[in-house]
Amino acid sequence: MHLIENYARLPVRFVRGEGVYLYDEEGNRYLDFVSGIAVCSLGHSDPDLVEAICSQAKKLIHVSNLFENPWQEDLAGDLVREFWTEGKVFFCNSGTEANEAAIKLARKFFRDRGENRFRIVTFKNGFHGRTYGSLSATAQERFQEGFGPMLEGFDYAEVNDMDSVLKVLRDDTAGIMLEVIQGEGGVVEFDPDFLRDLQELCRERDLLLIVDEVQTGIGRTGTFYGYQNYGIDPDIITLAKGLGGGVPIGALLAREEVARSFTPGSHGSTFGGNPLACRAGLVVVRKVRTLLPRIREVGEFFKKGLEELRVGEVRGRGLMLGLDIGRDCKEVVLKALERGLIINCTAGTVLRFLPPLIVEKEHVEECLSILREVLR
Ligand SMILES: *Cc1c(COP(=O)(O)O)cnc(C)c1O
Repeated sequence: MHLIENYARLPVRFVRGEGVYLYDEEGNRYLDFVSGIAVCSLGHSDPDLVEAICSQAKKLIHVSNLFENPWQEDLAGDLVREFWTEGKVFFCNSGTEANEAAIKLARKFFRDRGENRFRIVTFKNGFHGRTYGSLSATAQERFQEGFGPMLEGFDYAEVNDMDSVLKVLRDDTAGIMLEVIQGEGGVVEFDPDFLRDLQELCRERDLLLIVDEVQTGIGRTGTFYGYQNYGIDPDIITLAKGLGGGVPIGALLAREEVARSFTPGSHGSTFGGNPLACRAGLVVVRKVRTLLPRIREVGEFFKKGLEELRVGEVRGRGLMLGLDIGRDCKEVVLKALERGLIINCTAGTVLRFLPPLIVEKEHVEECLSILREVLR
């Protein structure tokens, strides 16, 4: 009634969640294979996460970034350990903010070296967020339409096409930004050889490699960060979605040399990295680390099961999988929902599966059996 209608909401009201299941007002149970769009990495009502949030809320929810924040220190240490030994972290509240920070940091890094390099190459079909920097980086007409003009300084290349990258590179290009698996774009994976070539190009031309790990990060693809599947070495990565297990938090990680360009006062966020969000993040990160082997195993099992349905191409890694059915998939999502399975349709024809990272084979079997019925 009083909400702006910018979402096409499905007619279900969830009131409670437990593990991989959600419950609606009437007590109906749903198997959740979307996890709030890759957010609820530990499923719903994880006891350790709930305990950490409650105990922190009783002590201190927020302090400003005018003061020291040991909770940020703890979480940053855990995040950096998986990235660069001398990396540094900036905390914010969402994916788009993390990417804004990455764009600003890339520009500032070159300005500080006295070079006027600010352009960033991104890839068609990618998704980086809804605020102007991130939206300008998002090379998809459907997100930009009606909101022009976009921010200056973005050039779009084709996924897995080095010629298209070389064609848009200029003297004032500062970096290349990508998702190793495009999520909103339909679970489209970059070719590992192409990514290694891109890394090589970044080294040769002194470009920053920025990997948007907002969806692929924090265990989603079976490695702690998605890029670790490909043997590349980014200069900057961005995180959000699964990091807080449902509490809003985003982060930017950068190599120390690059991170230095964010000097006191140059960038900031009021809420970014408050104690509540950081405590949640720390529980998630530590638990996800122990789940990685299982994520890979259950992911493989799930992928094989989807392939055996023989209804279209299966893409993705770990617990970030897509099934391209080659026709509009909205109807399938509705039919699955009626049968108690929550899945998502993205890029028009791609069924996307993002179950909580705690999912087990029996849940995958339950999902596959509902899918079999619905797709028949
Ligand atoms: C969801 C997403 C974003 C945007 O995150 P918000 O928290 O909605 O701002 C950015 N990049 C990728 C890869 C995403 O999947």
